[in-house]
Amino acid sequence: MTFVVHGLAVSRGVAIGRAVIVSSSRLDVAHYFVPADQCLVEIERLRAARNAVAEEIGRVQQGLHELGSNDAHPELTALLDVHLMLLQDEQLISGVKHWILERHYNAEWALTAQLEIIARQFDEMEDPYLRERKADLEQVVERMLRTMRGVASPVVAPPVKGAGPQALADAVDDIPLVLIAHDLSPADMLQFKQSVFTGFVTDVGGKTSHTAIVARSMDIPAVVGARSASQVIRQDDWVIIDGDAGVVVIDPSPVLLAEYGAKQRQGEVERERLSRLKNTPAVTLDGQKIELLANIEQPEDAVGALKAGAVGVGLFRSEFLFMGRNGKLPDEEEQYQAYRRAAEGMQGLPVTIRTVDVGADKPLDRSTRPADDHLNPSLGLRAIRWSLAEPAMFLVQLRAILRAAAHGSVNLLIPMLAHAGEIRQTLALVDKAREQLDARGMVYGPLRMGAMIEVPAAALTVPLFLRHFDFLSIGTNDLIQYTLAIDRADEAVSHLYDPVHPAVLQLIAGTIAQCQAWDKSVSVCGEMAGDVTMTRLLLGLGLRSFSMHPSQILAVKQQILRCDTSRLQAWAQNVLSADDPAALMTD
Ligand code: PEP
Ligand code: MG
Repeated sequence: MTFVVHGLAVSRGVAIGRAVIVSSSRLDVAHYFVPADQCLVEIERLRAARNAVAEEIGRVQQGLHELGSNDAHPELTALLDVHLMLLQDEQLISGVKHWILERHYNAEWALTAQLEIIARQFDEMEDPYLRERKADLEQVVERMLRTMRGVASPVVAPPVKGAGPQALADAVDDIPLVLIAHDLSPADMLQFKQSVFTGFVTDVGGKTSHTAIVARSMDIPAVVGARSASQVIRQDDWVIIDGDAGVVVIDPSPVLLAEYGAKQRQGEVERERLSRLKNTPAVTLDGQKIELLANIEQPEDAVGALKAGAVGVGLFRSEFLFMGRNGKLPDEEEQYQAYRRAAEGMQGLPVTIRTVDVGADKPLDRSTRPADDHLNPSLGLRAIRWSLAEPAMFLVQLRAILRAAAHGSVNLLIPMLAHAGEIRQTLALVDKAREQLDARGMVYGPLRMGAMIEVPAAALTVPLFLRHFDFLSIGTNDLIQYTLAIDRADEAVSHLYDPVHPAVLQLIAGTIAQCQAWDKSVSVCGEMAGDVTMTRLLLGLGLRSFSMHPSQILAVKQQILRCDTSRLQAWAQNVLSADDPAALMTD
């Protein structure tokens, strides 16, 4: 029976595929397809893991027996019997074989896919004793996964669909898959960046949460904040994700499938049409040149930025190099190489590297989720606050960026500054990093220095920033969050997250105007810059530099080519002074 779940539209387009339900605790498991002739090898790996775990349990039982502890620990003995029984469970074994043989999932993926199915059945059981056996099953599967880790083939990035041997591509071509999860951290999303999934749905998350931002960077349809999606969608259900409307259709009828199939094809035609604008200069009808820059998360994203026609990188979110590493931070050499790759990848075009911005909805690793950490992580030790609290770590990053600046045109961008003292400390540490490199006799390059305006306190004291920095970049995602006191990652208040709230617009307009008066460059690098419904307004407010994910550049360029900024100015001033600016946006 067809039914629909609503969420927030975060990444455009339509995806149609079979659901793969993944719980975040299992995201460390490798997900990749195996060629048909390797399926039996995967089954053999599973069998070996099962035997190893059975032997391990057998040894524990034997130990208990020898110690005469069987009677002393009847519960433990019974538990081990249950684990042994679960290892032989027919539903587990046949299900796992099905995923491997029919779908060509690797062994670990097949095992966790089947675990999700059986775990749900346990959840639905009336008998509390049986319901509790779910935990036993999970333990057994975890043991098998651990055992397989020792003998597994790749455990990191799964092969990209179509990029592997032809046999691999052929094996999966006819089965598009969409990922359904309760929650995905930004680091989890990154792990799936090169994966086989053609769409995403999560139960939680706001429109400008970092999970949504990474989904947009992958340019595949995604819906977040879909509340109960991971509960109501079953493993292998057919699902349509409408990333434009924020709708997820489960078990669609043939009529709906045909309708969305047509919409999908129409989207492809539109993309093809837009791609012709790649080499067209971004100039308005009245001759204003507009700078279109790219937001990237990894050095390798520079390729996509150039392909989309970006004239530089306006925001390299360096924190993605720091996340999901179980607390082991990248050292100076690793960071230097990464920044250098980005600088060289952009072939002489400017690259703006933002210093690490972890905290809030970007935890360093999964074990330090913000909710476990502090009540209000967005207001806590994030971004520059964290860097200044850890000067040794910050100096490592600054030295790495300075060294990379010898290989291209590099700008340094500091997130979330609010206080004069923070500016002073930051600049002093940049000087210190230079001195340290001098002392080591190491080569480094010049840096243009920029500050992000993303806290209302900063937007209200722009001259303070202009006195110390070469350029400013407005981080509207956080500026909106902090101006309106709306957690950007919380879908429960997402209806109040309003980019055109008069207070937000006043802060943006004021920042742009003051930069113009000081003759210093300013860009917007929050999601607003890539939102085509905002292009006219930002141009009207005087913005001439936009930084966004490469996937959004051509659509924004199309808007720019149709605009006359001399006409937009007066209209933008009206919008700015209106009680309800949204009502004027379509004028
Ligand atoms: C912003 O806040 O607008 C921004 C670009 O930074 P981030 O989204 O990484 O917080
Ligand atoms: Mg920000």
